[in-house]
Amino acid sequence: MNPHLVSVFPCETYAPETCEKALIAVLEPLGGLDWVRPGMRVGIKANLVAGAKPEKAVTTHPALLAALTRLLIARDASVVIGDSPGNLYNASVLNRVYALSGLSEAEEAGAELNRDFSEKEAFFADAVQAKQFTYTGWLDGCDAIVNFCKLKSHGMMSLSCAAKNLFGTIPGTMKPEYHYRFPNPNEFADMIVDLDEYFKPVLHICDAVLAMEGNGPTQGKPKHVGALLASQDPHRLDVLAATLIGLDPAEVPTLAAAARRNLAPTSVDGIEIAGDWKQFVQTDFELIENRNSLLFVGGDNIFGKTVRGAMNLCLVSRPKVKKSACIGCGRCRDVCPAHTIAIKNKKAVINRRNCIKCFCCQEFCPVGAMRVHRSPVAKILTHGKERSK
Ligand code: SF4
Ligand code: SF4
Repeated sequence: MNPHLVSVFPCETYAPETCEKALIAVLEPLGGLDWVRPGMRVGIKANLVAGAKPEKAVTTHPALLAALTRLLIARDASVVIGDSPGNLYNASVLNRVYALSGLSEAEEAGAELNRDFSEKEAFFADAVQAKQFTYTGWLDGCDAIVNFCKLKSHGMMSLSCAAKNLFGTIPGTMKPEYHYRFPNPNEFADMIVDLDEYFKPVLHICDAVLAMEGNGPTQGKPKHVGALLASQDPHRLDVLAATLIGLDPAEVPTLAAAARRNLAPTSVDGIEIAGDWKQFVQTDFELIENRNSLLFVGGDNIFGKTVRGAMNLCLVSRPKVKKSACIGCGRCRDVCPAHTIAIKNKKAVINRRNCIKCFCCQEFCPVGAMRVHRSPVAKILTHGKERSK
């Protein structure tokens, strides 16, 4: 069995029978669920970044979580589903997220919804960035982790799929601190890859039935792709996912970070794929206006730092408030790790000098008023590479 194989299979709708059949089919080339042993406790790390109705395409769809639960229970495993949204990591927040996201469907299928809100410390000597980090303790109670992500565009990382989903192992209120620790997108991406390497889920499955395009990962638009992707390799799965939505994998910071460690190629040409993936290629998927790959790295001497600073000022994408849409709720101010947002006259105002471009404000604005703004220079440089707006 090739551990780097990526499997893709059609899944047109979230009808329970369709989900179950598609899951069985997409896992079959990977050996199915033969790794499951009776009595095993399997943790499904879903994408529950915020409470949202399943049709909004913010979270892993509950019909798929329920279908996987049934398949695991049929093998005498027990199932716990969890995640840490970008908020307080406690019962009242998570119960609300579970309810809004339709997780009762998975509960009825036999899954337990995680209510262990302990936090643990990890020491990871092999990490590039995250040598020490805090994580959600429920994962320690699992014999195996399945990473069940959602295909979405993402303000900071361009793509939210398998690798990025592991950021949900960091307790919600600590996430802004990690953005502050790793303000550079490349360092942040290295930290994400560290988390993937540390937790090493046995399986990654991507819900690309209804993906999210545009202002992702929480305020974009649902986009029907009609596919499930699966692999034991998060980065190769992400290379295929990026290719399907028209993103150059080399421009996805987590994939560039994985490539620097020789964990994955940055082209779909170097990947073995089971299934007719070309039928799922999207020609009009709305990508987010962020081109972190353009950022100039430069040297570490004074000259390199000066040139890098000047170039990046011209190139870097920034958060921008759409005043007409802002309702002055203050959520962006509260999540901003740099404490650089104020509410004035019931509108958010960003003090750009301190902004670290983490896009937490964009991710958690409840009405999509905070957007990713790309500079005119970056737009000119990527002219011809743009496929959609
Ligand atoms: S303003 Fe937005 S992008 Fe800038 S540091 Fe604050 S949360 Fe991050
Ligand atoms: S979170 Fe969105 S709506 Fe709320 S104050 Fe910030 S920009 Fe305005």
